[in-house]
Amino acid sequence: MLIAIAAPLSAQDTTKAADPVARLVARLDLERYKATIKGLTQFGDRRQGTARNRAAVDWIEQQLRSYGCSDVARITYQFPPAQQEPRPPRDTSRAAGGGKIRGLRAPTGVNTDSLRQPDAKLRALNAEPTSPGQRQEVYCTKVGTGHPNEMYIVGGHMDGHGWGEAANDDGSGTAIVMELARVFSAPDVTTDRSIRFALWNNEETGLNGARAYVEQRGPLQGKEDPPGSGKYPEPTWLGMIQHDMMLFDHGMPRADGTLSPEQRPEADVNIEFQSKSKMAEGAQKLAWAFHRANELYATDYPAQVGPHMTNTDSAPFQDLVPAISLRENERGREIGAGWDPNWHQPTDVYTTYSDKDFRLGLNAAQTTLGAIAHLTGATVKK
Ligand SMILES: [Zn+2]
Repeated sequence: MLIAIAAPLSAQDTTKAADPVARLVARLDLERYKATIKGLTQFGDRRQGTARNRAAVDWIEQQLRSYGCSDVARITYQFPPAQQEPRPPRDTSRAAGGGKIRGLRAPTGVNTDSLRQPDAKLRALNAEPTSPGQRQEVYCTKVGTGHPNEMYIVGGHMDGHGWGEAANDDGSGTAIVMELARVFSAPDVTTDRSIRFALWNNEETGLNGARAYVEQRGPLQGKEDPPGSGKYPEPTWLGMIQHDMMLFDHGMPRADGTLSPEQRPEADVNIEFQSKSKMAEGAQKLAWAFHRANELYATDYPAQVGPHMTNTDSAPFQDLVPAISLRENERGREIGAGWDPNWHQPTDVYTTYSDKDFRLGLNAAQTTLGAIAHLTGATVKK
């Protein structure tokens, strides 16, 4: 497994015009990325357990099929689960995940007041409350030619809440996963190892969609089915990479609690691993591979690596395989300290964001595409 993670990522790789990874990264563009986010916002906040959430799952599946992504499938589970662990109240003076909060803070929380959404049409679209019962989430796979029995998982969560459009949280991460599914599914692209593109549901309720996946699919890893077919419905996991809130890095709140209206020029993509996880060593190697891919392929914004990954769909994987998350800011000490005023708020709508914001998400897509292409040995025919 570590051999795959340590795949060469040298500076010379991109100096050749023939670098297949650079050619793949060039297939991402800002307008397509924005259009995919816009497509997701037609379903409002996509709250789990509603018709608008189910319609969004159907729409995502249609898109994945239209890209030619293989083996489109769904996970089915119940929510709430039969035994739900109560969530202990958290000490908010400390950063979730282990970091240390510094400087100025602004309030955070989940908006539950429909009247705080000024757009009457959007308010009506988000009106149906959640009900318990069956849930689904969709994934598809780029099947590796040399090692179809091993894969990286690239994830984002498609559900949201807060009476907005969940444009940033997590339309921005979901759209990265969908854009990568589109690029890797092109008929002229081959990878040696497999890649699974997963659009988790129920992230906002406690990572329940990702947990259901780990529970149901974990035991099937690496099994050829039917025997002798060369098919592996659940390739062995090599790593899990989550994308959550990828647009907004306007810096620390000011003393009056307001934020800069502009993306800060020094905005960055935050790559986090969890230093207390069982797979911390492999996870940090994976994080540095992504950091290197950012230097090679991201056009505008750099990446930073941090050790406090938390509150993400990578968490159910972190003691099993190397797992990382990509975000606009560190989740614990920055987003947790109020660096994103639209987080779970009625203002998390498409029109809140400028091209400078969307470009940060595009740079995260370039980073993950570059890293995953190297790790899976991607080549392009033409
Ligand atoms: Zn989120």
